[in-house]
Amino acid sequence: MNGKKLVGKAEMVTRAIRAVNYYPEKRVVSGLGLDAVVWINGREFLNFASNSYLSLHNHPKVVEAAMAAMRQFGFGTGGSRVTSGTQSPHVELERRIAQFKGRESAVVFSTGYNTNVGVLSAMVGVTLRGVEIMLSLDSNAQIHVFSDALNHASIIDGLHLAHGFNRTLKVSKYPHRNMQELETLLSASTAEYKVIVTDGVFSLHGRIAPIDCIVELAQRYGAEVYIDDAHGTGVLGEHGRGTAEHFGLEDRIAFPIGTLSKALGGAGGYLAGSQDLCDYLRVSSRSYMFQTAMPASIAAGLVSAFDVIEDEPHRRTELAANAAWFREELVRLGFDTFDSQTQIVPVRFFDEQKAKIAAARLEEAGIFAPPYYYPAVAPDEAEVRLNLVYGHTRDHLTQVLEVLERAGRETGVFNRVA
Ligand code: PMP
Repeated sequence: MNGKKLVGKAEMVTRAIRAVNYYPEKRVVSGLGLDAVVWINGREFLNFASNSYLSLHNHPKVVEAAMAAMRQFGFGTGGSRVTSGTQSPHVELERRIAQFKGRESAVVFSTGYNTNVGVLSAMVGVTLRGVEIMLSLDSNAQIHVFSDALNHASIIDGLHLAHGFNRTLKVSKYPHRNMQELETLLSASTAEYKVIVTDGVFSLHGRIAPIDCIVELAQRYGAEVYIDDAHGTGVLGEHGRGTAEHFGLEDRIAFPIGTLSKALGGAGGYLAGSQDLCDYLRVSSRSYMFQTAMPASIAAGLVSAFDVIEDEPHRRTELAANAAWFREELVRLGFDTFDSQTQIVPVRFFDEQKAKIAAARLEEAGIFAPPYYYPAVAPDEAEVRLNLVYGHTRDHLTQVLEVLERAGRETGVFNRVA
């Protein structure tokens, strides 16, 4: 009985990661203030590492709505949505999302991660194949998914799980935002069902997916479009309805997914669609059925967050104006910002050490913005990523630009930019 021990193997891997300094530093946040202030390991910083783009996580109305629901329903839900976990704030939230997105209905999951995992495994993994057979549907029809190479991990994991349920599922990765390659793949596919899956905004480079081209290709090749709009929801489009609104193509998206954890300031994710599609997901998405429902306090806070998004559009417009100004200033200084088009602004330092130096200089100046390097990004794409939020002022941004300019000189990155 001397089988190898997986625990020992895991511990060895951890030690190896630590030895080469790749283990993420332990940062403990002890408070989030107004005006993008964060306390980390006891020290105050200006926070450029938050996805709470509209700063709704501490909006007084949102917090008050969450606290009132907490007093009414308590701390946790104690059950899955399909057993005892559906409480009135969940129903209200789904109604509010449907109204916001202009769809008949919506289905809410406890996290954005599990929204992609649940929807993809149910839709292209076909978790209800037994029912399809009973109904004499085309249960053996071939499904082919076309997925952007830089899609989020939850999409990749959802597709893996889907493949576990549907061994005939075909998944083709197309190079990031490369529409020619996507067309080549689509034109070669003979599958009955085709789905193009993309992030709306790519979170490491701040780029927007070319939804106009994707929709056109989808139409030409009979495919449906799936957008995970985690970073566009609440921020892009005239009314903050996200990337598809930005392109004026909302009605062309079969699977509009969003998260409730970023601009909405809470936690969770959703799909908006017809009543029948949403009800199908309630019985076929395992991450919906087998996961404890989100706390009522979060659901109620989110209802209020959607109200704020509609009532306070200046949050969105000021953020967009600040982000545009900041990107322009960086380019003027000679930085490569990876053609970011959004509030997510990466600054390229090319190699890991340089990105780490830049992040350290920011930290010394009381600005928190972590470096990203391989394997998070390609080896020559090491960057410091600055997420702008409502609450950052031009004065804050000017401070960041000054530190970055000095770090750019120190590390010699300006010489590398053509
Ligand atoms: N999709 C994308 C594109 C994301 O960036 C994230 C979060 N980083 C998720 C899904 C997962 O969402 P959540 O954190 O709400 O689970």
